[in-house]
Amino acid sequence: MLKSKRALVTGSTSGIGLAIARAFAAEGAEVILNGLGDAGDIAALCDELGATYNGANLMKPDEIAAMMVAVGPVDILVNNAGMQHVAPVEDFPPEKWDAIIALNLSATFHTTRLAVPGMKAKGWGRIINTASAHSLTASPFKSAYVAAKHGMAGFTKTIALELATHGITANCISPGYVWTPLVENQIPDTMAARGMTREQVMNDVLLAKQPTKSFVLPEDVAAMALFLCGDAARNITGANYSIDGGWTAE
Ligand code: NAD
Repeated sequence: MLKSKRALVTGSTSGIGLAIARAFAAEGAEVILNGLGDAGDIAALCDELGATYNGANLMKPDEIAAMMVAVGPVDILVNNAGMQHVAPVEDFPPEKWDAIIALNLSATFHTTRLAVPGMKAKGWGRIINTASAHSLTASPFKSAYVAAKHGMAGFTKTIALELATHGITANCISPGYVWTPLVENQIPDTMAARGMTREQVMNDVLLAKQPTKSFVLPEDVAAMALFLCGDAARNITGANYSIDGGWTAE
């Protein structure tokens, strides 16, 4: 399905991004990986997927610009890299706020602005942004993340309108809780912020949000990303697809 397509997936050394990269590679796309991690592990992933890798730190606009030059024109851009920090707003470290806005929101602007000219030249493009249920609703103690993800949803709608006549679509996928390192790593801080045990955080905070009472799988998100790349999705743009077990229906 994606033969002759070049796809840059940010934050694809782990979790959801890696599942999307695997799904695209399986359909014949030339995949460019990005993200942090052990050099040996990343080399093994490149071998597995026939992919190349660019290790730009997406908190730094100059590194993003260098990456987009090195990578060249892409047909598919998936803005997926992200991080979380959990703390009451009065204790929220300003440097964590800045980092989350830079990675979860501003990086999406920088990659997009540099990818769009190549897509316009081809008259075809797919921009897929991994937002979150937190692009549609809020939870306490996640002020930076919720602000960034709401911003990503608004940015996506704006570029969808700008690019609508160029054969380029832009959409968000908004997962609920997906079992990845990002979720696992926020459990200790949530335990501290709410005075809860690990089991209480899992059942009373995380899965309490999802009526299906089960975690979303990275592969579920990848399947939606693949669908959005297909011809059947050519008129889907500016949408924000929830994959959240019913969370935001409540
Ligand atoms: P993850 O921690 O498994 O993966 C995050 C990826 O981002 C990794 O590849 C990491 O190396 C990369 N990354 C981190 N900092 C970076 C930086 N400075 N520069 C470049 N890459 C960097 O997390 P995940 O759960 O797979 O999250 C992926 C996306 O999905 C994020 O945007 C996250 O907000 C979103 N999301 C996750 C969940 C969930 O429950 N896991 C739910 C909704 C949305």
